[in-house]
Amino acid sequence: MEENLAFGVQRRAMVEQQLRRRGIRDERVLEAMLQVPRHEFVPSKYRSFAYDDRPLAIGESETISQPYMVAAMTQAAGIAPGDLALEVGTGSGYQAAILAELGARVVTIERNASLAESARNRLERLGISRVQVVIGDGSLGYPPSAPYAAILVTAACPGLPTPLLEQLGEDGRLVIPVGNRYQQILRLIFKHQGQFARRDLDACQFVPLIGQQAWPEKSPPD
Ligand code: SAM
Repeated sequence: MEENLAFGVQRRAMVEQQLRRRGIRDERVLEAMLQVPRHEFVPSKYRSFAYDDRPLAIGESETISQPYMVAAMTQAAGIAPGDLALEVGTGSGYQAAILAELGARVVTIERNASLAESARNRLERLGISRVQVVIGDGSLGYPPSAPYAAILVTAACPGLPTPLLEQLGEDGRLVIPVGNRYQQILRLIFKHQGQFARRDLDACQFVPLIGQQAWPEKSPPD
């Protein structure tokens, strides 16, 4: 009980100091970040760092993204209640939980079966419904549920995977970090009347997307 209270205080500080002060303006996104208990999505040994301004290890050499990056991607995706959203790179399940908190129906796809299983169990334990966790190569998207109102890719991409563009619905938004393995630009792609427009947002650093439309499992350094 006291622990939850302390985490609540830390979460509010995260929202005010890391997100609002740095330019996250969408009140619905700020409220979702205030509601979802991020400490439940990190390994127990890192719980006390859950609201720090940084990514954290979640095992399997993967990370839960920095809170600011989750908020920036969510804001850019412009989620409305009832939207169908695809997240590529489930990791801990935290980003998916934020999208669900905003009222989206979420399909999230993860290539690592062990992470996917843990995320599925965690979301279920926390009573977060409306999220379907799928195991697979998200660089190919997830055609059975397409088209999507929003697609968020939470791993770095060398380019724009064609299947993701194809699975975006009319007026859909794709938010994706594009660049090399060490540095990327967070890019927002809009689809309108079959045409794509793009806006570049923040510089960022994500772990690589490994898949048929991204980097191979073992690739030489850039
Ligand atoms: N969104 C996650 C969260 O909220 O915890 C963090 C994602 S982590 C930065 C990137 C994730 O992308 C890793 O879990 C990794 O296994 C996954 N990944 C990498 N390549 C993938 C692919 N082709 N398809 C699906 N997931 C992939």
